[in-house]
Amino acid sequence: MKILFVSSEVAPFEKTGGLADVAGALPIALAQLGMDIRVAMPGYSTITYPGNGSLPVLPFMDVQVGSETYAANVSAGNLPGSPVPVYFIHNAALFNRNGLYQENGKDYPDNAQRFAFFCRAVLWLIKGLNWTPDIIHCNDWPTALLPIFLRTDPAVQDDADLNAIKTVYTIHNLAYQGLFPPETAAAIGLAPELVTPSSMEFWGSISFMKGSLLLSDILTTVSPTYAKEIQTQEFGCGLDGVLRDRASDLYGILNGIDYSQWNPEVDSFIPALYSSEDMAGKIQCKAELQKELGLKEAPQVPLLVVISRLDPQKGLDILLPLIPRLMEENLQLAILGTGMPEYEKAIAADAAKHKGRMAAIMKFNNALAHKMEAGADMFLMPSQFEPCGLNQLYSLRYGTLPVVRRTGGLADSVEQITDDSSAGSGFIFDEYTSKALLAAIHQALALYNDTDSWRRAQIRAMEQDFSWTASAKRYGDLYSKLL
Ligand code: ADP
Repeated sequence: MKILFVSSEVAPFEKTGGLADVAGALPIALAQLGMDIRVAMPGYSTITYPGNGSLPVLPFMDVQVGSETYAANVSAGNLPGSPVPVYFIHNAALFNRNGLYQENGKDYPDNAQRFAFFCRAVLWLIKGLNWTPDIIHCNDWPTALLPIFLRTDPAVQDDADLNAIKTVYTIHNLAYQGLFPPETAAAIGLAPELVTPSSMEFWGSISFMKGSLLLSDILTTVSPTYAKEIQTQEFGCGLDGVLRDRASDLYGILNGIDYSQWNPEVDSFIPALYSSEDMAGKIQCKAELQKELGLKEAPQVPLLVVISRLDPQKGLDILLPLIPRLMEENLQLAILGTGMPEYEKAIAADAAKHKGRMAAIMKFNNALAHKMEAGADMFLMPSQFEPCGLNQLYSLRYGTLPVVRRTGGLADSVEQITDDSSAGSGFIFDEYTSKALLAAIHQALALYNDTDSWRRAQIRAMEQDFSWTASAKRYGDLYSKLL
């Protein structure tokens, strides 16, 4: 089976969120199932990892996007530690920037052009390589145009190879749909009949995602619960009707995590390794983390952490009002995140008020994210909605018990610890309120004081298996079904 996996971000090359983790790990797991799988991503100038910028694998080529012509070239590398090829598609004017999609909180005004170029260039890459995949697997709005070009572009319809390619489209987050003014359609070479309510038109805009939801052969999203939720008005972001119409082609597959990166037994970022059998290293990780974050070195005081994009999705509107109340308890709190300036400001101000007990790190820092997973006792994830969520899965593996809201992938991966604490891996609340979150934190704090029960819950959490193997098999089954 030949699969081309296409993503706007792929770890470790470039990452803004969970999509990159998936795109860096799932293809390796699929390759281990015997597939000929390759990855394509934009050749951002910010990528420093070896591979990007290596010798071009194809000669320069003109790629037409609407009336504009862009020069494209391709370099190649591999997903680290694997034979999976990665093709980086370059165009200096479009991808030599400081950010992936935005800068200083503002989306680039030519994002439609940038990703239309990327999607068209992928088709040219396929022709240039003389390697036609059976399936192109696209992800989120930046690659949503690919199935649309494949199914509607007259030049593609004349090309028997391209025409035969099937498509899988994965929704990692329905809230980001790639909405652009309707005149964008002509600018990127889409036929006028696509700008209608039964096609890509969406409340006066065009929606890349809507087009792909209509035209891809199979749709997936990243957890079974989110697959159901997005068919409701509450979670459907205006596309629930489209998704209900395609319910028989929509599948929810929980993301796995990459245990070669996120595992306290091998993690090269943390000061001491540990496992469910020998937790001594976790104590050292906590001490070092408290020191690094300027928190009081207090081994017995529970340390709660948040690692998150600072966006309303992540539950900050119920968490931030709770901080003064939490500071009345015997606990420490550390928040690592970047995002909306008002959240950053509020968190930094709280941390300044509670020096030694609360830390705010308003940066994107992968090494610190690892150290926080290892050094903390509890992980807070009070998301309003959460397609899958990775941090709760990392937390389980690091014995950092998660406190989560029952939604999306959080509901599918964390099990409530029972009253007699004989089963379960974390603490779950339902209502999207500060009060419900506080009640769940209180449960966690109570169990923390019962050292033996806490230890047993940590072991249960750490011994769960969320590796990619099982999820990759499900994708493999879907691919087979499609072919
Ligand atoms: P989302 O994709 O919605 O942002 P996920 O939980 O699926 O949420 O994935 C987030 C990923 O980004 C995780 O790997 C997490 O560790 C990482 N991350 C988020 N914010 C930061 C940050 N400030 N510094 C380091 N890593 C971060």
